[in-house]
Amino acid sequence: ATFDDAGLHPVMLQNVKLAGYDTPTPIQRYCLPAIHQGYDVIGIAQTGSGKTAAYLIPILSKLMGKAKKLAASRPNPAMIQEGVDPRVRAEPLVVIVAPTRELAVQIFNEARKFCYRAMLRPCVVYGGGSMRDQEMQLWKGCDVLVGTPGRLVHFLERPATLTLKRVRYMVIDEADEMLADDWKSELDKIMAGGEQEEGVINYMLFSATFPKAARNLAKAHLADTHVRIR
Ligand code: AMP
Repeated sequence: ATFDDAGLHPVMLQNVKLAGYDTPTPIQRYCLPAIHQGYDVIGIAQTGSGKTAAYLIPILSKLMGKAKKLAASRPNPAMIQEGVDPRVRAEPLVVIVAPTRELAVQIFNEARKFCYRAMLRPCVVYGGGSMRDQEMQLWKGCDVLVGTPGRLVHFLERPATLTLKRVRYMVIDEADEMLADDWKSELDKIMAGGEQEEGVINYMLFSATFPKAARNLAKAHLADTHVRIR
């Protein structure tokens, strides 16, 4: 299997090549088709396996295919290009939750590479960073939001800044770490999403281990048509 025959959007295929990725890693070989076909995914994967690209590439590739339609329904389409501050709340299409600032920034940097020339704007929010600066970033428009659970819930409680009503893809990365750190109620709140009908959000849960708490989280939010990857 190669990236060339993964059915990727041409812009994504170029971005993958620009990133210097020649061959998909094992987790990418499983996730690309599963996410492309619309399955929820549970991935048991360690850091270093290429798990970040395993979800970013297929999710963003699918969104690129719908870019025109999505741009038309965006609250602030022009602002995405001009980078001015329109004071319009962020309505991301993708939300990625990660346990630490370091991981969130790493995922954000990877998302930036794959969003290149795609009219998709990534943002990152995390605890310990300036609330004001992060709010300004969200107001500029945000299609792909990466964040730590506490800070994400903080912004969700400010509906003038962030709403999840447009979310189509939600990724819980290093789920075991976040559950061990007692973020379960925040994860439940985030995973409940916005006002979508059931089944509209595709969920991906990645975890290095798969303890009972992670199984329960998956059972509560993921559809039962998932594939499990080890
Ligand atoms: P991750 O497991 O997502 O933290 O990724 C580990 C590292 O592998 C990151 O530096 C990625 O940029 C890199 N990487 C991911 N997928 C590939 C690939 N298919 N080919 C080469 N490098 C990759």
